[in-house]
Amino acid sequence: MKTDELREKYLAFFETKGCVRRPSDVLVPTWDPSVLFTPAGMNQFKDHFLGKVTLDFTRATTCQKCLRTGDIDNVGRTAYHHTFFEMLGNFSFGDYFKEDTIRWAWEFLTDKKWLGLDPGRLSVTVYKDDDEAAKIWHEGIGLPTSRIARMEEDENFWPASAPSQGPDGVCGPCSEIYYVLDDGSDVEIWNLVFTQFNRVGDPPDNLRPLPSKNIDTGMGLERTASVLQKVPTNYHIDILMPIVQAAAEVTSVPYEYDSDNGRRLRRITDHVRAATFAVHENVYPGANGAKYVIRRLIRRAVLDGHQMGLRDPFLYQIVDAVADAMKPAYPELTETVQRVQGVIRGEEERFFATIDAGLQRIDRIFGDMETSGTGMIDGDQAADLYTSYGVPPELLQQMGAEKSFTFDWNGYTEAMQRHAEISGGDQFKLFQTGPLETLKESLRHTEFLGYDATTAEATIKGI
Ligand code: ATP
Ligand code: MG
Ligand code: MG
Ligand code: MG
Repeated sequence: MKTDELREKYLAFFETKGCVRRPSDVLVPTWDPSVLFTPAGMNQFKDHFLGKVTLDFTRATTCQKCLRTGDIDNVGRTAYHHTFFEMLGNFSFGDYFKEDTIRWAWEFLTDKKWLGLDPGRLSVTVYKDDDEAAKIWHEGIGLPTSRIARMEEDENFWPASAPSQGPDGVCGPCSEIYYVLDDGSDVEIWNLVFTQFNRVGDPPDNLRPLPSKNIDTGMGLERTASVLQKVPTNYHIDILMPIVQAAAEVTSVPYEYDSDNGRRLRRITDHVRAATFAVHENVYPGANGAKYVIRRLIRRAVLDGHQMGLRDPFLYQIVDAVADAMKPAYPELTETVQRVQGVIRGEEERFFATIDAGLQRIDRIFGDMETSGTGMIDGDQAADLYTSYGVPPELLQQMGAEKSFTFDWNGYTEAMQRHAEISGGDQFKLFQTGPLETLKESLRHTEFLGYDATTAEATIKGI
């Protein structure tokens, strides 16, 4: 099944259940100061869940453009993480609840009319105390108890925390659906969140049942497509492989699945797709907030290209392939290809102008550290590498991690503060809302809104 068909089938299926098909929210929701990027389908409905807005519907379904900065380091390394991805969701605002949610998820996944996945390949997790969900899976669906795992709060309660310890507000247990692969490993494809409590004050009686219970589910489009298409990673699905191939062509490096360059090409694929969507929305690479994340993604991809021998901008040449692969769902991308290319190319040129000198500097620093037996990358030097050579600190941290070096974030922060004071007003402002804080902030919110903070161990063998 093609990915475009899966996207459409999901939305059509939930329309048959009375859900109103709503458009994706933007990727960069400037209306929501608590996040830099939309991290999940539920984000556009936060006020609905909190009962803050008048509803003209109580059931909805969407395909949401998402970006999770917290997954940047997973990209290329695991088979199933992207920064930019699409999340298929169905939502109930005080309407249907656990029983329907579980039954419909099962029907969509296993019914031959819909996805027709082998039921024997599916397993689920539920929150340890959620007998109701366990019972529906076992008695209602007929799933053997051996394929229903009861998990702790960190995996199956949202927001991820012990019910007695989390923040006040709406919360609830969740149930995740996994697909078991040929080699016995599994991949998480769908998270069903049962928002049934309001947490108020201290335990033991702090979980109050909500008068109107909500449902928030998120299914990974690319992951489910990879399962349906029986391919080894998300990057092999029909909408991503053409971008991988375009990256291979532009870099003149043949794509090999199980190699360093394969990992680099996957990262380039992911990052150029994310950057294309963001720049399309007028979020240009820059010094702060979402703009800084886009800068970081582009520069990371440029470094990958550099490590494969490239010395001139190349990433912008892949934008066409992105627009082409994504146009059935996002035809608007084709209208801005030239603008997006220009912006990405400009950022590439800026980084290519300093990257050789920056890398030489890094080589010297790492060499000195090895000679002297120092284990931590110095904050002053990191700040200098960013301000003089444009090397984002996270990139330096990543390169250092490959040599088992740690990174002095405190020292970096102090050095940037000093640098900002010397450079004057604008720069100071720049730093105050600068990369580190905003990234931490986005990560925090990404985790909070992302159902749980765990990382699938779906790593590609040998990488
Ligand atoms: P994982 O444990 O694999 O990191 P998660 O538990 O963080 O996933 P959820 O927050 O539950 O993911 O999001 C709902 C669904 O969205 C997941 O079941 C998965 O199919 C998909 N998904 C989550 N993060 C990513 C990602 N970085 N790239 C692609 N798909 C993702
Ligand atoms: Mg999950
Ligand atoms: Mg998970
Ligand atoms: Mg995750």
